[in-house]
Amino acid sequence: MNRRDFVKIAAAAVPLAALRTRAAEPGMQLDVAIVRLNLRHAWTTTMSSSTYRDTLHITLSRDGISGHGEGAPIVRYHEDAEGARKAVESVRDLLVSGDPMQFTKIMARVGQTVTGNWAAKAAIDIALMDWIGKKLGVPLYKYFGLDPADAPVTTFSIGIDKPEVVRQKTLQAADFPVLKIKVGLDSDEATIEAVRGVTKKPLRVDANEGWKNKEEAVRKINWLESQGVEFIEQPLPADMIDETRWVRSRVHIPIIADEACQRASDIPKLKEAYDGVNVKLDKSGGMLEACNMIRIARSLGMKTMLGCMVSSSVSVTAAAHLSPLVDYADLDGNLLIDNDPYQGVRVEKGRLILPQGAGLGLTKNE
Ligand code: MG
Repeated sequence: MNRRDFVKIAAAAVPLAALRTRAAEPGMQLDVAIVRLNLRHAWTTTMSSSTYRDTLHITLSRDGISGHGEGAPIVRYHEDAEGARKAVESVRDLLVSGDPMQFTKIMARVGQTVTGNWAAKAAIDIALMDWIGKKLGVPLYKYFGLDPADAPVTTFSIGIDKPEVVRQKTLQAADFPVLKIKVGLDSDEATIEAVRGVTKKPLRVDANEGWKNKEEAVRKINWLESQGVEFIEQPLPADMIDETRWVRSRVHIPIIADEACQRASDIPKLKEAYDGVNVKLDKSGGMLEACNMIRIARSLGMKTMLGCMVSSSVSVTAAAHLSPLVDYADLDGNLLIDNDPYQGVRVEKGRLILPQGAGLGLTKNE
């Protein structure tokens, strides 16, 4: 049979209506929504205090498969939920017409089209990866070649508060073997003493750029070491890299960059001042860039940590799937809210238990 005959027979065998249906078959369907997450306790750091957070949720659907993504806009980087929503809408055509199997190309185009808006990019990246995992029928940790048994213990974070509230929250976190304590104000010593009044657990401390000079940082870090603190996160403002290097040469516990380290290109210049980096999907713009960051930091001999913002199980579970790659995890953002729309990663005695379902492995809370 020559090619012309084959085409004639094939055309006759397919009803016209079916051809129309196929021709009209839509690409991706995109749904975008801002979801208000209610905090169990008012959450205070050196930067803000609030009782709720709005995060951006998107769903990408095609071939009967839906991929869910979430991004938590970070005020520090001048982002908010409405801006994130607009950023996703600005690439709607690109997303609905793209082939999700070519997610690397889609994310490159999103990166070229959208300036900043890392939470919006994270929501798109996570939704694409959830879709890919479901399409291939594998949980995302498996897609990335990771062993879920390597997932580290996560800390539970205690925000800045009055000593009696800090003490209460510490007692409520009895199941967690390691705690992360927020400091950075004049009340630091009182906060740590309140925690130490009720537990001897290892502590990790986050100053969120709260200390303003290098001498104060050295004094406080050396005192924290005497209190059983394992490492200190972002003691000085992000732009004080030289001062942080000075501090590093005078203390013994590791210094981890958070606000100073947003994306992969930030890491090389931090190598002399910091021992490690805190990677967050909402800063990096998703799982793919987070993987790049972890690998670059490791190749430079730095410690790696995965953190999160206050967010639902969508974003936290996405980060948890990458957690077998890192030294430290601080993935408790979903545990701080009381209206999580999904279930995903679970925590047992501090250990991250990754879901076994395809993609992110999320189930919807009714
Ligand atoms: Mg931090």
